[in-house]
Amino acid sequence: MNVHEYQAKELLAKFGVGIPAGIAALTVEEAVAAAKQLPGPLYVVKAQIHAGGRGKGKFKELPADAKGGVRLAKSIEEVEAFAKEMLGNTLVTVQTGEAGKQVNRLYITDGVDIAKEYYLSMVVDRASSRVAMIVSTEGGMDIEEVAHSTPEKIATITIDPAEGFMPHHGRAVGYALKLTGDLNKQAGKIAEQLYNAFVALDCDMLEINPLVETKDGNLLVLDTKMSFDSNSLYRHPDVMALRDETEEDPAEIEASKYDLAYIKLDGNIGCMVNGAGLAMATMDIIKLNGEFPANFLDVGGGATTEKVTAAFKIILKDPAVKGILVNIFGGIMKCDIIADGIVAAAKEVNLQVPLVVRLEGTNVQQGKDILANSGLPIVPANDLGDAAKKIVAEVRKVA
Ligand code: ADP
Ligand code: MG
Repeated sequence: MNVHEYQAKELLAKFGVGIPAGIAALTVEEAVAAAKQLPGPLYVVKAQIHAGGRGKGKFKELPADAKGGVRLAKSIEEVEAFAKEMLGNTLVTVQTGEAGKQVNRLYITDGVDIAKEYYLSMVVDRASSRVAMIVSTEGGMDIEEVAHSTPEKIATITIDPAEGFMPHHGRAVGYALKLTGDLNKQAGKIAEQLYNAFVALDCDMLEINPLVETKDGNLLVLDTKMSFDSNSLYRHPDVMALRDETEEDPAEIEASKYDLAYIKLDGNIGCMVNGAGLAMATMDIIKLNGEFPANFLDVGGGATTEKVTAAFKIILKDPAVKGILVNIFGGIMKCDIIADGIVAAAKEVNLQVPLVVRLEGTNVQQGKDILANSGLPIVPANDLGDAAKKIVAEVRKVA
């Protein structure tokens, strides 16, 4: 799960991290009121969307030479004018895709006198089973480009969670950022605070770009992206409350209500599978046969009628879907129960597209009998390869 910049900064501030003063706003009036509470005379009006690259982004509804989603305002009147231009309009950045994202929230913050911009991020590094802290003197710009053309300007410091953040990690960060004296100390301290926040909040990614050195000699977090391990959200109700569903895919939200792992893809064959590994294999074999999956969907261990019905509905909402492949292995869940669920769900949603079903496992014969006697035009398949060939043939008949 992702959160907005202002929400991430409020969370980080609780760990002592230095951030510029700022207030979120949903309307032009709120933006003006927010600016009046800040010291001025420089303000920054920042579009809040779950995507980066806002500064260099473009608004669809504004002329091509209009400013982007991060704007420096020199007066309250300018804050008002910028808020009017941004709210309700669609911001397209390198991270949003062509469709862009509608700006519904703004963050009005204090303008900072920047001396230098740095980069600092953290991810869970599965290879080393540690937290990797990635730092660079080249902040503010496209870090992927820095990694590509000048990899020596990026340092990675790994922290063993069993050991925790040690003073030597802080010194390594200060050294990598080429900071000396008090700024070097500050770098170690802010790195420790960020690490503490990362671990305590079960983040899976935290990116500060830029981390800035101000002209008066302080290190501040100017921009941040934060994402959380969804499996841990149950123990962070305060983080869960920050979820902004308008930023998420509606089908994925619907799926999460039924505990279905669903991700929309670009093809035309809807997939309903139990187990992530089997779902991946199913997508692969569809591609091997020359078509593309319309989604990844793992119904999980307990494929009940209710879940299967919800899954069918979600798959069918996608107008690109020309056929559905159900591939279920009945282990703990018996095949006859699954077959009952498929038949009931297919009837309830009045299924109009071809349906190929491959069942295997406990009570497979009873399951196949239920499908055969259902009166529905379900195409049975014997194995994965057979199932893929059959659904590809079916969707090509329709096309
Ligand atoms: P994004 O990465 O989405 O473009 P940022 O918040 O990083 O958005 O802003 C882009 C650039 O705008 C920053 O690299 C920085 O130079 C400038 N900027 C952002 N916030 C402020 C601020 N509060 N004061 C001064 N400059 C800022
Ligand atoms: Mg940024």
